[in-house]
Amino acid sequence: MMILDMFNLKGKVAVVTGANTGLGQGMAVALGQAGAKVVGVARRSCEDTKKKIEEFGGEFTEVIADLSTTEPVQRILDEALAAYGRVDILVNNAGLIKRIDAIEYDEESWDQVVSVNQKVVFFLSQAFAKQYVKQGQGGKIINVASMLSYQGGIRVPAYTASKSAILGLTRALANEWAKYNINVNGIAPGYMATNNTAQLRNDEDRSEEILGRIPAGRWGTPEDMQGTVVWLASAASDYVNGFTIAVDGGWLAR
Ligand code: NAP
Repeated sequence: MMILDMFNLKGKVAVVTGANTGLGQGMAVALGQAGAKVVGVARRSCEDTKKKIEEFGGEFTEVIADLSTTEPVQRILDEALAAYGRVDILVNNAGLIKRIDAIEYDEESWDQVVSVNQKVVFFLSQAFAKQYVKQGQGGKIINVASMLSYQGGIRVPAYTASKSAILGLTRALANEWAKYNINVNGIAPGYMATNNTAQLRNDEDRSEEILGRIPAGRWGTPEDMQGTVVWLASAASDYVNGFTIAVDGGWLAR
């Protein structure tokens, strides 16, 4: 196969959580452009994402689910299979951040953040891995990590704990599942202009401090995730296992 053909996702089905906005939307569109049929999972409508994918003739279906608990896990898989008959790619993108001083951080906020960012990611990955094994053709799992998989951060202890866990979970699952031709890898976005960082970008001091530390000299965008997610979703990365790649404009290199 010629190298650029290895990036082609024609015939594949990709499921992206949190596909209604931000990085999830950017990645869903990219996977669609690469030829995959896309299932977007979100707690509210993915109308905008659907429109962007249908504009270039791609196929998109949404599954409405709240990922605060494991309750919808099996239904997400079932609805994806009902729509397109198989699954090949799972992007665990949905996540939330709560900015509260560690000294005041409450248990409910902790549980919410860790459940969506960490616990449900594991059980959704497990459900998909079982299906990949059943299909017998391997599959891809791509977890969205963070700079706070490597660093401590400020006022976000639950987020840092959960995103650091994602780095380890990506390795742990890759170890166990590489033998089934399942690749589990991560993408660690740097500081990207989405809802997740709206609060930071609105704080002039913090915003300036962050921007001054990014070698690329700008905040990232959902488009910046697109090349890496297509590569990790494709046959071009079949021997990449358990690694988390920073897409951060050089932040970690500082
Ligand atoms: P975002 O615009 O806030 O998107 C987060 C997505 O997760 C949204 O689709 C959101 O849905 C969804 N989500 C949150 N809680 C959910 C729940 N209980 N059930 C279902 N969906 C839920 O921010 P983003 O930057 O695109 O974030 C995407 C991922 O990248 C997250 O895992 C985030 O931690 C990670 N990340 C972002 C940055 C950054 O700088 N932006 C950096 C590193 C990592 P709603 O729209 O309904 O809230």
